Amino acid sequence: MTSDANRRGRLVVLAGPSGVGKSSVVHELRRLYPDLWFSVSATTREQRPGEQDGVDYRFVTADEFDRMIKDDELLEWAEIHRGIHRSGTPRTPIEERLAAGLPALVEVDLQGARNLRAAMPEAFLVFLSPPSWEALVERLVGRGTEAPEVVARRLRTAREELAAQSEFDAVVVNTDLTSAAQDLLKLILDKPVSNTPETHE
Ligand code: ADP
Ligand code: 5GP
Repeated sequence: MTSDANRRGRLVVLAGPSGVGKSSVVHELRRLYPDLWFSVSATTREQRPGEQDGVDYRFVTADEFDRMIKDDELLEWAEIHRGIHRSGTPRTPIEERLAAGLPALVEVDLQGARNLRAAMPEAFLVFLSPPSWEALVERLVGRGTEAPEVVARRLRTAREELAAQSEFDAVVVNTDLTSAAQDLLKLILDKPVSNTPETHE
């Protein structure tokens, strides 16, 4: 990744329905390219097995999250899954990266993508899409981390989120994890991809 101090870096925002594989694709990308810089969100939700504090998320209390909002430390934040918890994007690390001419990757929900677009109109929005609705249901159920009523609520949200695909600058279909991660990397580095300009499978 080259740095150009005269040009602001590219802010790439990855969004898509719950269970489509956003965190898996980001994890794969970080495994393949450990130098890749990724924004670590603050969240009030419980840490899941295998997640590392400060790497996957910064896990904070509701009081600490309130303080971050009050002190304007978050570029955007949202109530996730109709208020079950809150997650937000810390402002300073991203501002520093972009000012240094380096790219930054952020993974957020649909509200987050819209709010980041409003805050930074030059942001490049990438929608991660499932190969099919059936594949999405299978992934969300198969992850096994949520109770059935939570899965049902997330699928309702997912239907709304799939309809928002046209608001995005590019679509990456997550059929194969490694291919999706490589397509995303090309978009982060602003390189041409071999497929059609709009959809990268
Ligand atoms: P999200 O972050 O979008 O909510 P996750 O990354 O947690 O989604 O993925 C949801 C489930 O789908 C996980 O069990 C994950 O292992 C699985 N998954 C992700 N990508 C793929 C893929 N390309 N093929 C098959 N399963 C996948
Ligand atoms: P999970 O809690 O399962 O990791 O993620 C739930 C949802 O929260 C996902 O859609 C994820 O993209 C979104 N999310 C994670 N971090 C942020 C953030 O900082 N801001 C916003 N708006 N959404 C986030």
